[in-house]
Amino acid sequence: MVQRASATLEQTQAKESSIKEARRPPVGKDSSFMRSLCMGYIEEDMLLPFPAMSADERETLKGVVASLGDLLGPKEKDFAAWDKAAEMPRSYIEELKSFGLFGLIIPEAHGGLGFGSAAYSRTLQEVAKHDASTAVTVGAHSSIGMRGLLLFGTEEQRARYLPKLATGEMIAAFCLTEPGSGSDAASIRTTAHRDGDDWILDGNKLWITNGGIADFFTVFAKTENAEQRGHMTAFIVTRDMPGVSAGPHEDKMGLRASSTTTVHFEKVRVPDGNRLGEVGKGFKVAMKILNSGRTGLGGGAVGAMKHLISLAAKQGNERVQFGKPIREFGLIKQKVGQMVVDCYAAEATVHMVAALADQGYEDYAVEAAISKVFASEALWRCADEALQTAGGNGYMTEFPYERIVRDARINRIFEGTNEILRLFIALTAMDDVGRSLKELSKSLQGVFEDPIKGFGVLSEYALRRAQLATGIRKSVFTKLDLRLKSHAAIFEEATKDLAIAVDRVLRKHGRNIIGKQFASKRLADAMIDLFVLACTLSRVNSSLLAVGEEKARQELQILEVLSDQVRRRVRQNFELVDRNEDESLKALADHAFALEKYGWDTI
Ligand SMILES: Cc1cc2nc3c(=O)[nH]c(=O)nc-3n(C[C@H](O)[C@H](O)[C@H](O)COP(=O)(O)OP(=O)(O)OC[C@H]3O[C@@H](n4cnc5c(N)ncnc54)[C@H](O)[C@@H]3O)c2cc1C
Repeated sequence: MVQRASATLEQTQAKESSIKEARRPPVGKDSSFMRSLCMGYIEEDMLLPFPAMSADERETLKGVVASLGDLLGPKEKDFAAWDKAAEMPRSYIEELKSFGLFGLIIPEAHGGLGFGSAAYSRTLQEVAKHDASTAVTVGAHSSIGMRGLLLFGTEEQRARYLPKLATGEMIAAFCLTEPGSGSDAASIRTTAHRDGDDWILDGNKLWITNGGIADFFTVFAKTENAEQRGHMTAFIVTRDMPGVSAGPHEDKMGLRASSTTTVHFEKVRVPDGNRLGEVGKGFKVAMKILNSGRTGLGGGAVGAMKHLISLAAKQGNERVQFGKPIREFGLIKQKVGQMVVDCYAAEATVHMVAALADQGYEDYAVEAAISKVFASEALWRCADEALQTAGGNGYMTEFPYERIVRDARINRIFEGTNEILRLFIALTAMDDVGRSLKELSKSLQGVFEDPIKGFGVLSEYALRRAQLATGIRKSVFTKLDLRLKSHAAIFEEATKDLAIAVDRVLRKHGRNIIGKQFASKRLADAMIDLFVLACTLSRVNSSLLAVGEEKARQELQILEVLSDQVRRRVRQNFELVDRNEDESLKALADHAFALEKYGWDTI
């Protein structure tokens, strides 16, 4: 009897697996690794093997990296001085132009270097090792300032502007933020009214990187009722158009040499030929620019981390306390070891996202947001710990640490704050599950009138859930080296838990999930950890196959640390989805908001 029952179970499993495999959507260029992961599928073909650059690309990059070292290496003292003075000399900007740094991603046909996302990100990494203000000047130009032209420009617009942008004759800026509109980009007040063949732009933009040095502005304005949300349109505005002006250089915490200003548009007449994309589609234009530009910021963060690891390692070797170099103390080793893990994982993730873009995947917005959040926070931890290894010296302006800390802080704020990006990650990645649930609940309404049709849909969804809950047919890696089995198992188990948690949260909150930020953040944190681990697994796998176990020893140790850390964090996040102290925390925040101060004292 027992035997018959288990045979039946096996038969059922086999039948059910074939149903599942048949219905699993094939990986296409519109697939997203993270959306699939939330459904419980590991689309390993998207991440394996770890994307390698072509031999040509690697050669070119090696040359660029070496020349950048020659250009920027000798300027270490200048960078510190320009930070203090809050200025970047024109002559230096001219040097950057001559180097070709403004033409990195512009096609060769238009006079640029024609770099893909991976090569671009790697170049920014190198610049950021030397100076964050320079990296942001170059990054704001390519990552966001002129990217809209590349993505949405007409042939005529591209021919008109790209050659000048490639040489740096025109530097670009991205103008979205306004005094009343930051994260809530749809609430901008700048307007563009149609006047014959032209548009008349009016409005004020705030904290625009390159605002003081740019000649080319990608500007977002409302083209219908300014009071209404949305209805934005993107325009190319140039500095020579009457009515365009910039405010003074902002005095900032970090990136002090980089130009940040207000930019004003007063009755600026912009020809319709300078419209970027369709009327009313400006919000999409802005989001697409920001999504595809994120590997630039990620590359910069990785470069800064590499520099910090060098500084901390030197400090560990040279500083002697209690009769020993401080590198011999466990607590210093712990910091430097963690910096190495964070940097390797961030580099794997940023490179993977850039490669997904280069391979033509269209839906990598969630993965790009993950790379930005992880890299910016890894850099922040790294900068803080490197400063700590330097002790009091770390706090002195004579040493580079405090400047790097100041420069690093902005990465968690601009190009989408990490709070907004976490919400975006969770809500976007869960979207497919939400849609399945909606379809399920719709089909359930008909189950009793049309049991066969109802069963068809129900069996597919219920099967997937049952499989995940029981561990049967859990999605697994099949192409990883067997030596990585235990690390892969951590990922696979957590993927199953993620799919179950997403399902549970969506069933519990439905559409109201949008207002459940604590739950969304926990899911986003788990998703961030899992994608970073998947990219690191892929990277270590390729390295292991290429150089063998002995030479990949340190990389295997990185994977060991990261996978254990991810396992613990992810488990905790899933546990906290249901059992937590969120309501008390919210009440305490409300108490402080009401008082506008801390409510206690000991006297
Ligand atoms: C040095 C620098 C350079 C910049 N360069 C540019 C540029 O080139 N072009 C450009 O257009 N802009 C630029 N910005 C603006 C930057 O993009 C914005 O500062 C950023 O988008 C955040 O907007 P905000 O500062 O108005 O913060 P707010 O939107 O007011 O947010 C304040 C806090 O509330 C949180 N928050 C807001 N809404 C929510 C929500 N719904 N749920 C949970 N938390 C929320 C935020 O995460 C943040 O912690 C720059 C800013 C700086 C400081």
